[in-house]
Amino acid sequence: MATEAELRQLLADSSRIMFRLGLVDYMGHPSVRIPGTDCVLIKPRHSLRIRSQDRVRPDDMVVIDLDGKLIEGKDGPPSERFIHTCIYRARPDVQAVVHTHQPWATVMGVASAPIRPILHVQSSLVEKPVPIWPCAKLVTDNELGEALAKSLGEHSVVHLQGHGVASAAATVQEATLNAIHLEHLAEATWRVLAMGREPRVIPPDEIHQRTATGVGWEVRWAYYAEIAGIEPSEARR
Ligand SMILES: [Zn+2]
Repeated sequence: MATEAELRQLLADSSRIMFRLGLVDYMGHPSVRIPGTDCVLIKPRHSLRIRSQDRVRPDDMVVIDLDGKLIEGKDGPPSERFIHTCIYRARPDVQAVVHTHQPWATVMGVASAPIRPILHVQSSLVEKPVPIWPCAKLVTDNELGEALAKSLGEHSVVHLQGHGVASAAATVQEATLNAIHLEHLAEATWRVLAMGREPRVIPPDEIHQRTATGVGWEVRWAYYAEIAGIEPSEARR
């Protein structure tokens, strides 16, 4: 089981990777449950003191409870912490959540255009259509967070229409990788449609064969950590 120090490092790594890939700017945030507690570690709200997501540090992360109340930390939690807390309350299987304003997936969500399973590595994520929560408000209370969590349902990702994406998984690494994969699929779908062509949707048996024989998320995480300039000793796997 990961220690709190390791989870803080993972959140910093996730922030840096998502920033370097253009999935977040000063907005957006990752979080993770602290094992054995009803508390969540989350990137703090951006401020004059908190540095960019490329440079946010493990010590900057703050602790909140599942009501969104600040338990520990020098800085405030994000105003949209209810994206995270309401998903954790609705989904006991979810250990980590990331919220992004990633451009391609957001545009597809704005258009209610399905992100298709058309790239072999990433497609298992969208075998079932990505649900859309048709609301662009800041998710600043339980009522909005619960409506979002309801739209997510049992899926791994959900559109916040006109706003961004939330990704939920068993680990910080998988929640981050799913956001990355969704962006690849969204961009590829958009580009094929822009050519005036219909993309070939990969059938389930090809997706399942690819998933069963490809590398695991640990290897993909190591790759993205490396290209984000994270030293191997820092990258928790
Ligand atoms: Zn947001």
